[in-house]
Amino acid sequence: MDAIVRNYLEQFGAGEKTRRFLDRPHAMLIDGEFVAGEGGERLDVIEPSTAGVIAQIPLATKGDLDRAVAAARRQFDGGPWRRLKPLERERLLHRLADLIEAHAEELAEIESIDVGKSVTQAREVDIQGTVDTFRYFAGWPSKIHGRTVEPSLPGSHVAYTRKEPVGVVGVIVPWNFPLQTLAWKVAAALAAGCTVVIKPAELTSLSTLRFAELIQEAGFPDGVVNVVTGRGNVVGAAMACHPGIDKVTFTGSTEVGRNVGRSAVGGIRRVTLELGGKSPVLVLDDADVDAAARAVANGMFFNAGQVCDAGSRVYVQRKVHDRFLAALLEYTRTLKIAPGLDRDCFISPLVSALQKDRVMTYIETGRREGAELVYGGREVDGRGYFVQPTIFANCRNDMKIVREEIFGPVLVTAPFDEVSEALTLANDSPYGLAAAIYSNDLKRVHALIPELRAGSVYVNAHSTIDPSMPFGGFKESGFGKDLGAEQLDSLTETKAVWITLD
Ligand code: NAD
Repeated sequence: MDAIVRNYLEQFGAGEKTRRFLDRPHAMLIDGEFVAGEGGERLDVIEPSTAGVIAQIPLATKGDLDRAVAAARRQFDGGPWRRLKPLERERLLHRLADLIEAHAEELAEIESIDVGKSVTQAREVDIQGTVDTFRYFAGWPSKIHGRTVEPSLPGSHVAYTRKEPVGVVGVIVPWNFPLQTLAWKVAAALAAGCTVVIKPAELTSLSTLRFAELIQEAGFPDGVVNVVTGRGNVVGAAMACHPGIDKVTFTGSTEVGRNVGRSAVGGIRRVTLELGGKSPVLVLDDADVDAAARAVANGMFFNAGQVCDAGSRVYVQRKVHDRFLAALLEYTRTLKIAPGLDRDCFISPLVSALQKDRVMTYIETGRREGAELVYGGREVDGRGYFVQPTIFANCRNDMKIVREEIFGPVLVTAPFDEVSEALTLANDSPYGLAAAIYSNDLKRVHALIPELRAGSVYVNAHSTIDPSMPFGGFKESGFGKDLGAEQLDSLTETKAVWITLD
């Protein structure tokens, strides 16, 4: 670990458990064993607030992946996991949720140090969300069942369906909410009786490696959960077309998701794709303008805008436009830009130098395209990857900054006159992950909800997420759902059973 990171941990009082974890040699979990990987290659992990090296993770080879898939396959095909009584699977999932909760502070610090995110947000959102997700799905194994059917076929038959686990699930997750995204995929897969091989993003694998230790502590049978860390174009790409994997569940960019989907479907593997977004927000003229401005800023600048369903395009009815913009700027000014471990940090650094450069290029593009820069727009001096929260006004829908996902703290806004115009602007996007409406007029709200082409619609809030509600996009934001009862459908096969009695 670089001295600058050690001083940073010292300055903000990172816990003893966190430091001990970071100092340990990190290893992948394959078939119940922690292994360094056959190639011995390792990757430096960079802490985004200081740009210093925190740790190293193993880079898996295709051979390491093969061993992990073989372990998951053996456990699924012949091991006890799938055959455990449902309540027994529930007990293990609850035990895991308890362990995650017991280590919440440590996990939040690890997540903050790895991603750069606010430790307070990590504790309240990422880790609490992870615990809640495991608890929610822990309740499912005893409630997954088929149905009996009365066929009209001549003769006497008993007909029923069974819900069976889909098999070995390959889990590929991005870097913005590493542990929470993992939980969204792994909790449901385990509840359904599947086994998993997880590939975290190479930038942010640390919380997944700590999670692997908790899996062992909870007592899951070997091979039920395997973790391979490595590069997307090596391990991820091999996973998407691996013959030993039955289903791939991917969260990441639309660009990579397209290839993952192609590879998976090429082998007739099941696939869920949770992809990018450019979620519209409609502020109607009857809204509580100040409350809307606060919610819009929180919904955009949380996690430095590195949020798939961030409300990044805001259309404001002309009558309240100037008042809304003034309130938005006033509130945004109060959001503290600080290193992730600062408990009062709201705007954290971006995850990497590359992501910071990408975001700065978009800001430059916005200026060139003629959007009016009304707030921020600059990098913050220093070593970390900080970018000011940035707001553009009077944007047009043909601008690149309005059409493309920036994945940073950049908000674009535009006025509209009629609600029908706002609807056209909102739906004019290749993406369809989420949308938000700010209004207190029930009639207008209910008229808009069915017309918005988005997987989630939030009213008078943003990113209200709970494990009981499905999450997933329309259009190029992907297909399939994570969370809710809907997710279990994609992790189970339905078997039709016919017993002829004549
Ligand atoms: P990414 O697509 O670059 O990477 C996601 C994962 O895919 C990583 O684990 C990466 O290693 C792996 N990967 C990279 N190349 C691969 C390949 N050729 N084959 C298989 N796997 C490969 O995305 P990112 O930059 O880590 O995350 C940001 C993106 O994720 C944004 O577009 C964001 O909107 C999206 N996202 C979507 C959701 C959602 O639920 N819809 C949630 C979070 C993030």
